[in-house]
Amino acid sequence: MSRSVLVTGGNRGIGLAIARAFAQAGDKVAITYRSGEPPQELTALGVLAVRCDITDSEQVEQAYKEIEDAHGAVEVLVANAGITKDTLLMRMSEDDFASVVDTNLTGTFRVVKRANRGMLRAKKGRVVLISSVVGLLGSAGQANYAASKAALVGFARSLARELGSRNITFNVVAPGFVDTDMTKVLTDEQRAGIVGQVPLGRYAQPEEIAAAVSFLASDDAAYITGAVIPVDGGLGM
Ligand code: NAD
Repeated sequence: MSRSVLVTGGNRGIGLAIARAFAQAGDKVAITYRSGEPPQELTALGVLAVRCDITDSEQVEQAYKEIEDAHGAVEVLVANAGITKDTLLMRMSEDDFASVVDTNLTGTFRVVKRANRGMLRAKKGRVVLISSVVGLLGSAGQANYAASKAALVGFARSLARELGSRNITFNVVAPGFVDTDMTKVLTDEQRAGIVGQVPLGRYAQPEEIAAAVSFLASDDAAYITGAVIPVDGGLGM
Protein backbone atom coordinates (compact mmCIF):
# COMPACT_ATOMS: atom_id res chain seq x y z
CA MET A 1 0.00 0.00 0.00
CA SER A 2 1.21 3.48 -0.86
CA ARG A 3 2.04 5.45 2.29
CA SER A 4 2.58 9.15 2.89
CA VAL A 5 6.29 9.42 3.65
CA LEU A 6 8.28 12.50 4.67
CA VAL A 7 12.08 12.62 4.55
CA THR A 8 13.64 15.79 5.96
CA GLY A 9 16.79 16.93 4.21
CA GLY A 10 15.87 14.68 1.29
CA ASN A 11 17.53 16.69 -1.46
CA ARG A 12 20.99 15.16 -1.21
CA GLY A 13 23.21 12.56 0.43
CA ILE A 14 21.58 10.02 2.73
CA GLY A 15 18.16 11.73 2.62
CA LEU A 16 18.13 11.61 -1.19
CA ALA A 17 18.86 7.87 -1.17
CA ILE A 18 16.09 7.30 1.41
CA ALA A 19 13.55 9.36 -0.57
CA ARG A 20 14.50 7.55 -3.79
CA ALA A 21 14.03 4.13 -2.14
CA PHE A 22 10.53 4.96 -0.85
CA ALA A 23 9.51 6.56 -4.16
CA GLN A 24 10.73 3.56 -6.15
CA ALA A 25 8.74 1.31 -3.79
CA GLY A 26 5.59 3.20 -4.79
CA ASP A 27 5.07 5.40 -1.71
CA LYS A 28 3.86 9.02 -1.85
CA VAL A 29 7.04 10.78 -0.87
CA ALA A 30 7.66 14.35 0.24
CA ILE A 31 11.04 15.81 1.08
CA THR A 32 12.01 19.01 2.78
CA TYR A 33 15.16 20.86 1.84
CA ARG A 34 16.71 23.99 3.24
CA SER A 35 18.26 25.62 0.18
CA GLY A 36 19.09 25.17 -3.51
CA GLU A 37 16.86 23.30 -5.93
CA PRO A 38 15.36 19.84 -5.37
CA PRO A 39 17.02 17.19 -7.55
CA GLN A 40 15.46 16.54 -10.95
CA GLU A 41 15.51 12.78 -10.43
CA LEU A 42 13.14 13.06 -7.45
CA THR A 43 10.79 15.42 -9.27
CA ALA A 44 10.71 12.87 -12.10
CA LEU A 45 9.72 10.20 -9.56
CA GLY A 46 6.78 12.38 -8.44
CA VAL A 47 8.35 13.38 -5.13
CA LEU A 48 6.94 16.56 -3.58
CA ALA A 49 9.75 18.91 -2.55
CA VAL A 50 9.00 21.57 0.05
CA ARG A 51 11.48 24.20 1.13
CA CYS A 52 11.58 24.25 4.93
CA ASP A 53 14.11 25.19 7.57
CA ILE A 54 13.51 22.87 10.51
CA THR A 55 14.87 25.46 12.95
CA ASP A 56 11.70 27.50 12.27
CA SER A 57 8.44 26.08 13.72
CA GLU A 58 6.32 28.23 11.41
CA GLN A 59 8.04 26.80 8.33
CA VAL A 60 7.60 23.28 9.70
CA GLU A 61 3.87 23.92 10.16
CA GLN A 62 3.56 25.31 6.61
CA ALA A 63 5.45 22.35 5.15
CA TYR A 64 3.17 19.84 6.88
CA LYS A 65 0.08 21.66 5.61
CA GLU A 66 1.39 21.49 2.05
CA ILE A 67 2.28 17.80 2.40
CA GLU A 68 -1.06 16.90 4.02
CA ASP A 69 -2.96 18.66 1.23
CA ALA A 70 -1.07 16.68 -1.40
CA HIS A 71 -0.53 13.27 0.24
CA GLY A 72 -2.63 13.14 3.42
CA ALA A 73 -1.16 12.90 6.93
CA VAL A 74 2.42 11.66 7.17
CA GLU A 75 2.49 7.95 8.06
CA VAL A 76 6.25 7.43 7.87
CA LEU A 77 8.62 10.17 9.03
CA VAL A 78 12.36 9.97 8.48
CA ALA A 79 14.04 12.78 10.44
CA ASN A 80 17.31 12.96 8.54
CA ALA A 81 18.22 16.67 8.29
CA GLY A 82 21.37 17.48 10.22
CA ILE A 83 24.48 19.64 10.31
CA THR A 84 27.99 19.63 11.71
CA LYS A 85 30.06 22.56 13.00
CA ASP A 86 33.26 20.83 14.00
CA THR A 87 35.80 22.47 16.25
CA LEU A 88 37.65 21.76 19.48
CA LEU A 89 35.90 22.61 22.74
CA MET A 90 37.99 25.67 23.60
CA ARG A 91 37.27 27.15 20.17
CA MET A 92 33.59 26.18 20.18
CA SER A 93 31.33 29.21 20.55
CA GLU A 94 27.97 29.01 22.23
CA ASP A 95 26.46 29.53 18.78
CA ASP A 96 28.46 26.61 17.34
CA PHE A 97 26.93 24.44 20.03
CA ALA A 98 23.40 25.87 20.02
CA SER A 99 22.95 25.89 16.24
CA VAL A 100 23.91 22.22 15.92
CA VAL A 101 21.54 21.27 18.75
CA ASP A 102 18.80 23.49 17.30
CA THR A 103 18.96 21.66 13.96
CA ASN A 104 19.82 18.09 14.92
CA LEU A 105 17.86 17.73 18.14
CA THR A 106 15.28 20.51 18.47
CA GLY A 107 14.64 20.45 14.70
CA THR A 108 13.92 16.73 15.01
CA PHE A 109 11.61 17.43 17.96
CA ARG A 110 9.70 19.98 15.82
CA VAL A 111 9.10 17.62 12.89
CA VAL A 112 8.36 14.59 15.08
CA LYS A 113 5.87 16.47 17.24
CA ARG A 114 4.00 17.78 14.21
CA ALA A 115 3.94 14.35 12.52
CA ASN A 116 2.53 12.74 15.63
CA ARG A 117 -0.63 14.81 15.39
CA GLY A 118 -1.68 12.78 12.33
CA MET A 119 -0.17 9.52 13.60
CA LEU A 120 -2.18 9.68 16.84
CA ARG A 121 -5.34 10.29 14.83
CA ALA A 122 -4.51 7.37 12.50
CA LYS A 123 -3.53 5.19 15.49
CA LYS A 124 -0.36 4.14 13.66
CA GLY A 125 2.92 5.59 12.53
CA ARG A 126 6.59 4.94 11.88
CA VAL A 127 9.34 7.35 12.89
CA VAL A 128 13.00 6.76 12.03
CA LEU A 129 15.64 9.17 13.32
CA ILE A 130 19.07 9.43 11.71
CA SER A 131 21.67 9.62 14.48
CA SER A 132 25.34 8.72 14.02
CA VAL A 133 27.95 6.31 15.32
CA VAL A 134 29.61 9.50 16.58
CA GLY A 135 26.68 9.96 18.99
CA LEU A 136 27.45 6.57 20.50
CA LEU A 137 31.27 6.67 20.48
CA GLY A 138 32.05 10.39 20.72
CA SER A 139 34.50 12.14 18.41
CA ALA A 140 37.22 14.71 19.14
CA GLY A 141 36.23 18.06 17.63
CA GLN A 142 32.55 17.08 17.41
CA ALA A 143 31.26 17.47 20.98
CA ASN A 144 28.29 19.54 19.77
CA TYR A 145 27.38 17.09 17.00
CA ALA A 146 27.93 13.97 19.14
CA ALA A 147 25.82 15.39 21.98
CA SER A 148 22.97 16.20 19.59
CA LYS A 149 23.10 12.74 18.00
CA ALA A 150 23.34 10.89 21.35
CA ALA A 151 20.31 12.85 22.55
CA LEU A 152 18.26 11.46 19.67
CA VAL A 153 18.57 8.01 21.25
CA GLY A 154 17.02 9.15 24.54
CA PHE A 155 14.41 11.09 22.61
CA ALA A 156 13.41 8.10 20.46
CA ARG A 157 13.39 5.62 23.34
CA SER A 158 11.25 7.92 25.50
CA LEU A 159 8.73 8.28 22.69
CA ALA A 160 8.84 4.54 22.01
CA ARG A 161 7.71 4.05 25.61
CA GLU A 162 5.24 6.94 25.56
CA LEU A 163 3.53 6.08 22.27
CA GLY A 164 3.96 2.33 21.85
CA SER A 165 0.38 1.76 23.01
CA ARG A 166 -0.74 4.05 20.17
CA ASN A 167 0.95 1.83 17.57
CA ILE A 168 3.64 4.39 16.70
CA THR A 169 7.21 3.08 16.53
CA PHE A 170 10.36 5.14 17.04
CA ASN A 171 13.69 3.76 15.89
CA VAL A 172 17.15 5.15 15.31
CA VAL A 173 19.62 4.41 12.55
CA ALA A 174 23.22 5.22 13.45
CA PRO A 175 25.33 5.42 10.28
CA GLY A 176 29.09 5.24 10.32
CA PHE A 177 30.99 7.26 7.72
CA VAL A 178 28.99 7.67 4.55
CA ASP A 179 30.10 9.01 1.19
CA THR A 180 28.18 12.35 1.08
CA ASP A 181 28.79 16.12 1.03
CA MET A 182 29.07 16.01 4.84
CA THR A 183 32.21 13.85 4.69
CA LYS A 184 33.67 15.40 1.52
CA VAL A 185 35.21 18.12 3.72
CA LEU A 186 37.58 15.55 5.25
CA THR A 187 41.15 15.42 3.97
CA ASP A 188 42.47 12.29 2.24
CA GLU A 189 44.55 11.63 5.35
CA GLN A 190 41.50 11.87 7.63
CA ARG A 191 39.54 9.57 5.30
CA ALA A 192 42.33 7.00 5.26
CA GLY A 193 42.49 7.16 9.08
CA ILE A 194 38.76 6.49 9.36
CA VAL A 195 38.71 3.68 6.82
CA GLY A 196 41.59 2.05 8.73
CA GLN A 197 39.32 1.74 11.79
CA VAL A 198 36.29 0.35 9.97
CA PRO A 199 36.22 -3.48 10.06
CA LEU A 200 34.61 -3.55 6.61
CA GLY A 201 37.39 -1.24 5.40
CA ARG A 202 35.33 1.31 3.46
CA TYR A 203 32.78 4.11 3.68
CA ALA A 204 29.06 3.31 3.41
CA GLN A 205 27.08 4.30 0.35
CA PRO A 206 23.91 6.31 1.13
CA GLU A 207 21.79 3.45 -0.29
CA GLU A 208 23.08 1.17 2.48
CA ILE A 209 21.61 3.53 5.10
CA ALA A 210 18.37 3.78 3.09
CA ALA A 211 18.01 -0.03 3.17
CA ALA A 212 17.93 -0.05 6.99
CA VAL A 213 15.42 2.81 7.05
CA SER A 214 13.15 1.03 4.53
CA PHE A 215 13.25 -2.09 6.68
CA LEU A 216 12.30 -0.18 9.86
CA ALA A 217 9.36 1.38 8.02
CA SER A 218 8.20 -1.97 6.60
CA ASP A 219 5.63 -4.43 7.97
CA ASP A 220 8.50 -6.80 8.75
CA ALA A 221 9.64 -4.36 11.46
CA ALA A 222 6.20 -3.97 13.07
CA TYR A 223 7.45 -5.32 16.43
CA ILE A 224 10.64 -3.22 16.56
CA THR A 225 10.61 0.01 18.55
CA GLY A 226 13.21 1.88 20.58
CA ALA A 227 15.98 0.14 18.63
CA VAL A 228 19.26 1.70 17.59
CA ILE A 229 20.51 0.03 14.41
CA PRO A 230 24.15 0.75 13.57
CA VAL A 231 24.96 0.77 9.85
CA ASP A 232 28.63 1.49 10.31
CA GLY A 233 30.71 -1.33 8.85
CA GLY A 234 31.43 -2.44 12.42
CA LEU A 235 33.06 0.84 13.49
CA GLY A 236 30.98 1.24 16.65
CA MET A 237 31.09 -2.29 18.04
P1 NAD B 1 24.29 16.40 3.86
O1 NAD B 1 25.02 17.56 4.42
O2 NAD B 1 24.62 15.91 2.49
O3 NAD B 1 22.71 16.64 3.94
C1 NAD B 1 22.13 17.21 5.07
C2 NAD B 1 20.69 17.54 4.75
O4 NAD B 1 20.11 18.20 5.88
C3 NAD B 1 20.55 18.47 3.56
O5 NAD B 1 19.48 18.04 2.77
C4 NAD B 1 20.19 19.81 4.21
O6 NAD B 1 19.34 20.61 3.38
C5 NAD B 1 19.44 19.35 5.44
N1 NAD B 1 19.42 20.38 6.49
C6 NAD B 1 20.46 20.83 7.22
N2 NAD B 1 20.04 21.81 8.05
C7 NAD B 1 18.71 21.97 7.85
C8 NAD B 1 17.72 22.83 8.37
N3 NAD B 1 17.99 23.74 9.31
N4 NAD B 1 16.46 22.71 7.91
C9 NAD B 1 16.17 21.81 6.96
N5 NAD B 1 17.05 20.96 6.41
C10 NAD B 1 18.32 21.06 6.85
O7 NAD B 1 24.49 15.24 4.94
P2 NAD B 1 24.32 13.67 4.89
O8 NAD B 1 25.65 13.09 5.00
O9 NAD B 1 23.38 13.23 3.83
O10 NAD B 1 23.63 13.47 6.33
C11 NAD B 1 22.26 13.21 6.52
C12 NAD B 1 22.05 12.84 7.99
O11 NAD B 1 22.86 11.70 8.29
C13 NAD B 1 22.49 13.93 8.96
O12 NAD B 1 21.60 13.97 10.05
C14 NAD B 1 23.86 13.47 9.40
O13 NAD B 1 24.19 13.97 10.66
C15 NAD B 1 23.68 11.98 9.41
N6 NAD B 1 24.93 11.22 9.30
C16 NAD B 1 25.78 11.40 8.25
C17 NAD B 1 26.95 10.66 8.20
C18 NAD B 1 27.93 10.78 7.07
O14 NAD B 1 29.03 10.20 7.17
N7 NAD B 1 27.64 11.46 5.99
C19 NAD B 1 27.25 9.75 9.22
C20 NAD B 1 26.35 9.60 10.27
C21 NAD B 1 25.20 10.34 10.30
